Amino acid sequence: MSIRAIIAACLFSLCAMPALASGPRYFKDSVPYPRLKPSPTVVVALPLIVIDPGHGGRDPGAIGQKGLLEKTVTTAAAKELKALLEATGRYRVILTRGTDTFVEHDDRLRIARERQADLFISIHADSTKSRSIRGASVYTLADRAKNRSKRIVNNQNWIMDVDLATQSDSVGDILVDLAQRSTETQSEAFADILLSNLSGKTALVGNSHRRAGYYVLLAPDVPAVLLELGFLSNVNDERLLKTKSHRTKLMKAVRLSVDDYFSGPGRRG
Ligand SMILES: [Zn+2]
Repeated sequence: MSIRAIIAACLFSLCAMPALASGPRYFKDSVPYPRLKPSPTVVVALPLIVIDPGHGGRDPGAIGQKGLLEKTVTTAAAKELKALLEATGRYRVILTRGTDTFVEHDDRLRIARERQADLFISIHADSTKSRSIRGASVYTLADRAKNRSKRIVNNQNWIMDVDLATQSDSVGDILVDLAQRSTETQSEAFADILLSNLSGKTALVGNSHRRAGYYVLLAPDVPAVLLELGFLSNVNDERLLKTKSHRTKLMKAVRLSVDDYFSGPGRRG
C-alpha cells in the first residue's frame, strides 16, 4: 500500500466515526433535541487512471508496412480505452494528449504525478527489422533504470509524499527507494493481470512481460506500464491494429485488468 493510500485509509476511518453531539439532551415533541449531527458524508475520490497515447504531432512513432502510423493507433486506442473506463463509472480518466500533438516525456510524467494518478498506462505499437515477429507485450521499469529515476527526483525537485528537503541525502534515498519498491510491486502486479487478460485475445510475443528504462515509466510513486499493442512491422498486426474491432478487443482486456487490479486487496476502487 502506498504512503498516500495509508494516509487516505487513516483519514477515511477517522471521518467515518459517528459524530456525537455534546451537552444536555432532552425530548421535544418526541424528537430528540438537540438533534444528533448526521455523520459526515465521506467522499472518496475515484481512482485516477492516466492513459498516455505514445508519440504524436511531429513524432509519428513507428510506421507500418502499409503506412499506418503508430501515433494514429495509440491515439485511437487511448480514446477507446478512456470511453470504456468512464462507462464503468468507477474511475476518473485523463489522457496525456487527446489530439495529434507532440508532448514531451517530461510533461507526460508531470501530468501523472501532479494529478496523483493511481495508475499510468502508456500505449504504443512496436516495430522491428524481422517482419515475422508479431504480438503484444507489456513493459515495466527495469531495475537498472531505478537510479535514473532517483536522479530525476533530485534534479527536478519532484515533491514526494515525504519532504525530501528536510532529510539527509541518504535518508531521502531510502524514502525514494521505499516508494519505488511499493510502486514496482503494483506495476508488476498490473502487468501480470494485463498479460493474462490479453492472452487469448491477441498474439503475445515470447517473454511478453519485459523490462526497460522507458522515461514514462520512471515516476517513483505512480504504478506504470507500457503496453505495446503489436508490431507495425508485421503486416498482420498492422492490419488488425487499423480496425476498431481489434483495438476494442484489446482495450476491453485492459479495462478488465484495471477492474481486477483495483478490486485486489489493499487497493481502492
Ligand atoms: Zn512507441
